[in-house]
Amino acid sequence: MADPTEFQFDLPPDRNWARIPLAEEIHQTAWAAAGGCASLRRAPQEEAVRVIVIHATAGASTAGAVSVMEEGRASFHWIVPDKDEPAHGKHVWATCPERLAAWHVRKSCAHPDICAGATNINRLSLGIEIVNRQNGRDLFSDWQIKATAEIIRYAAGKYPNLAHVVSHARLDPTRRTDPGANFPWADFRALVLD
Ligand SMILES: [Zn+2]
Repeated sequence: MADPTEFQFDLPPDRNWARIPLAEEIHQTAWAAAGGCASLRRAPQEEAVRVIVIHATAGASTAGAVSVMEEGRASFHWIVPDKDEPAHGKHVWATCPERLAAWHVRKSCAHPDICAGATNINRLSLGIEIVNRQNGRDLFSDWQIKATAEIIRYAAGKYPNLAHVVSHARLDPTRRTDPGANFPWADFRALVLD
């Protein structure tokens, strides 16, 4: 079984990837809520973004994850819908402006392989939620993996300092296991890098 606390790969620093558009739609409810659950970055986004964190919702729906933003408890930049949702196979939802630091990793979390052990990862990162129940039986769809990889490729073309793609579990191993052992990290990595 894969260990989600090991999920990490780094992007080639000297890449010259094309800037590609992303098949995203703004989720109006989340977008409106983002002002109350995200912070200003301390540097322009093009400089600031160094990390992308992969999460899974541990819930059944996009709406359920967005309700956490409406309550002002946490936030994330995109959500990848589940198999039984109408957007599945079509587009991901943009839920928070990239220029803002979403609240998706606890402030004290750090890993020596991520930005030399920096804390406050939210300031340096973009966060992606994938709708998945995280019960050990709910498998990610091929489209969810592909759509998540496309977000990484989009961001890698846009943010020159983006270096690390990492699981939430790696950054917060005592509290979090997402995206979970069922997430096909090797296939995902190959979709991004190959
Ligand atoms: Zn998470």
